[in-house]
Amino acid sequence: MSRRPAIRPERLAARLARFAEIGATPRGGVNRQALTEGDRQARALLADLALARGFALRQDDAANLFLRREGGDPALPPLLLGSHLDTQPTGGRFDGALGVLAGFEVLEALEDAGARTGRAVELVSWTNEEGCRFAPGAMGSQAFAQGQIAPEWREARAPDGARLDDELALTLAVLPGVLLAPLGSPIAAYLELHIEQGPILEREDVPVGVVTGIQGTIWLEVTLTGQAAHAGTTPLDFRRDPLAAATRLLAALHGEVMPSDPQARFTVGRIEASPGSVNAVPESVTFTVDLRHPDAARLAALEQRVREAAMREAERARCTASFRPLAHMPPLAFPEAMLEVIETGAGRAGLPTLRLISGAFHDALHVARCAPTAMIFCPCRDGISHNEAEDVEPRFVAAGATALLEASLAFLERAEMGTSIETRGAAMRAG
Ligand SMILES: [Zn+2]
Repeated sequence: MSRRPAIRPERLAARLARFAEIGATPRGGVNRQALTEGDRQARALLADLALARGFALRQDDAANLFLRREGGDPALPPLLLGSHLDTQPTGGRFDGALGVLAGFEVLEALEDAGARTGRAVELVSWTNEEGCRFAPGAMGSQAFAQGQIAPEWREARAPDGARLDDELALTLAVLPGVLLAPLGSPIAAYLELHIEQGPILEREDVPVGVVTGIQGTIWLEVTLTGQAAHAGTTPLDFRRDPLAAATRLLAALHGEVMPSDPQARFTVGRIEASPGSVNAVPESVTFTVDLRHPDAARLAALEQRVREAAMREAERARCTASFRPLAHMPPLAFPEAMLEVIETGAGRAGLPTLRLISGAFHDALHVARCAPTAMIFCPCRDGISHNEAEDVEPRFVAAGATALLEASLAFLERAEMGTSIETRGAAMRAG
């Protein structure tokens, strides 16, 4: 009989350190942007590790790289684990790499224990999650979910001039012997471990975050238009000053939106006055609004509040307000059964859990369209990420990987039970 599979924390820590060398920055971070030489080296290293353990490899048109540990019935859709190996230009050692290497550790733990699983367990390294070199982000997982690469993505140019299609071809060529499979394949479920990129788990000292979903996002561009006028000669009651209106509007929104709802996020990250002259009342002011909320109705209400407040303040200043929607991503809730799988697994390992929502986008957002999906969050120091100072305590790395392993085992048990129940039902009907 095989032993119960177990994570080896020191092996995982060494792997994380080894991958952090690829694209290492002088300040202790990682610059391994998507589809660069560093990204290709990391993929080649992962492929070598997979072959050394006898795992099968395949890649797809989007250069997503899959590692497969075969199960009892190769025809059953696999349980998929994964994350990404690309980083921000001044990225950290854990954002993405933790999920991929913990997933690899799970495959190795199964292999070490000689575990026989009913279905295959696969690990994927998604291409270009960060989106900082080529837009959009989460490109590989989106292509997987849609079954194709959007034609306009292929022509995308990096700031360094490289074309996405050329970089994809170079990246695929790094693993010439690896099977090129069609984009998108059936999967039973998807589990992703990722650093929280926020402060909640560390503050609560809870090692395992059970991610309930990904909050919705609305990006809106607001323009207030008044009348340009001389700064020295125009008295107050002759002014139609859109910047004065914008100032009052933003002060009011900052004072209300987040203080009145702890789940709401309101950010103005860009503002521009036109013509932007030191001695003229501006003609117009344009700013962006980033709104987030886990609840779709509350998110819509927030947008309405911003629009109404903008129109009100514009009118008071005898200006007009106009709006341009830039993006709308509805909130996503992961299935309750998948959250329970993680909680069951973590419980068996004696790891405390906390449910929380993801404030950031992840590959899981797209994979959730194809299969039951859930995410595990790992506490990171001071909630810092997209930063070279990003750090995760070794005990939290070990706990995250253990939770991923135990959740995988819990899912496999459940799936196998589901299969046998279905089979029995079918047999009964047949009889
Ligand atoms: Zn990430």
